[in-house]
Parts: sequence; C-alpha cells; structure tokens
Amino acid sequence: MRKLLIAGNWKMYLTFEEALTLASSIAEYSRGIDSVDVAIFPSAVYLNSISDNLKQSNIYVGAQNLHPEEEGAFTGEISAKMVLTSGGNMVILGHSERRHIFGESNEFICAKVKRALYSGLTPVLCIGEKLGQRDAGQTEDVLDSQLSGSLEGAALTAPNDLILAYEPVWAIGTGRNATPEQAQEAQAFVRDWLSTRCGDMAEKMRILYGGSVKPNNAVSLLSQPDVDGALVGGASLKQASFCDIIKVAVKITEEGK
Ligand code: PEP
Repeated sequence: MRKLLIAGNWKMYLTFEEALTLASSIAEYSRGIDSVDVAIFPSAVYLNSISDNLKQSNIYVGAQNLHPEEEGAFTGEISAKMVLTSGGNMVILGHSERRHIFGESNEFICAKVKRALYSGLTPVLCIGEKLGQRDAGQTEDVLDSQLSGSLEGAALTAPNDLILAYEPVWAIGTGRNATPEQAQEAQAFVRDWLSTRCGDMAEKMRILYGGSVKPNNAVSLLSQPDVDGALVGGASLKQASFCDIIKVAVKITEEGK
C-alpha cells in the first residue's frame, strides 16, 4: 500500500499569527504519526518562519507556486531556490486556480515541473476537468492532455519525484465532492497513464484526490484503491477538520485497504 499523504493548501488565507498557530497545532497533533505523511502549503511569505518552527516535526512544508526561471527580473514571482532556501520541500503546480484564473498553460506548468524537479523540490501536479467537460464525457481526454502537456520531457526517475493530485474543478471549494467512484475511476485512469509513461514505477507513485474533502467524506474517498491521499483546501484551515482527516487516513492505513 502506498503511504497516504494528507496535504493542506492554505491558498491566500490566514494572517501570519494564525498561520503559525495552525502549523504548530497540526505539528503537535501529527507528532508520532509515521504511517501517514502530512504536508502544508502556506503563503510563501510565511514559509521561512513556519518551516523553522516545524524543524523538529515530521511535516512537509511547501509553496503554492513558483516561476520556471532560475532567477531574473520577474517582479512578484518566487523561484525554486527561494522556496528551498526558505525551508520548503514541495510545491503545488498547475492548481486549477492557476490554470483558470491566471491562465497558466500546460506548457508553462511543464516548465515549472522541470524547474522543481531539477531543483530538488517535489511537485504536486494538479489536473482535473471542468463540469462541462465531465458532462460532455471528456474527462479522460482532459486528463490525458494535461498529463502529456505538463509532463512532456520531465525526468521522472523515482516514484517520489512527483505527486499527482486529481482535482475536478467543479469540486474545488464548492462543497460538492466527487463521489468515491468518480474519484477512483479518474485516478485509475491517471495511474494507467503513468504506467505507460513510467512503467512499473507508476504503482508506487501517489495520486491524491482534491475537491471538498471533509472529515465526513474522507473515509469513503481515501478507501478507494487509487486514492493515495487528499489535497485539502477549506478544511485544512481549521486544526480540528484537518486533523480529523489525518485521523481517518491513519485508521485506513492501520486497517489496510
Ligand atoms: C484545493 O484548493 O486544492 C481544494 C481541493 O480546495 P477545497 O478542499 O476547498 O475544495
């Protein structure tokens, strides 16, 4: 069984004090939990302080985005080296808000994935269809083109080089999660795609589900064979709900899928 990962995407929420407090309380809860991985993605502005505070913890800390160039005149952007030297070890790339609000293309996301890999950051690459695409039966075509476009030429040599997150756009921040069957079907497709691209290694690669994950739907979603964790937005902003999702993941791991 692949080790489940519960990841919190804090987006553009929380003050500095609130973020520090939340990070510490998640670290406190996660102390001694080895069977499940936990990651948080605060604002990049807080990365240095939070990663410093969590040095003794087993929590991964990452950024929500980066620029593909190593450095340069890109006002307001964040480089992989900035993330790394601020204590980050992961980065969310291709989130639907980046794709659809900021118009990021697969090609641009692919350059970011390559930069992250080259720099030693683990990309959490998000893919997912819009509601109209699902209704038109295009889900697999969309996933296929996002995967091909965002990973073209990316050097993947070990299972932990890359984490995928299937996040149907219609389920993000809407309170309407994909059914466990919809998540499983899409994620099995993603794993098949990965096995064509990476061979046997695909069996060891983690594919998260994201989209309105809450403590009350986490059991059924995380129990699916190809759901290897969750990327959590809204419910990651409160210690109680995020830690309840971690608790579910620990229980599923103990019981085995
Ligand atoms: C997300 O932002 O990646 C996400 C899944 O958000 P939410 O859990 O709020 O739907």
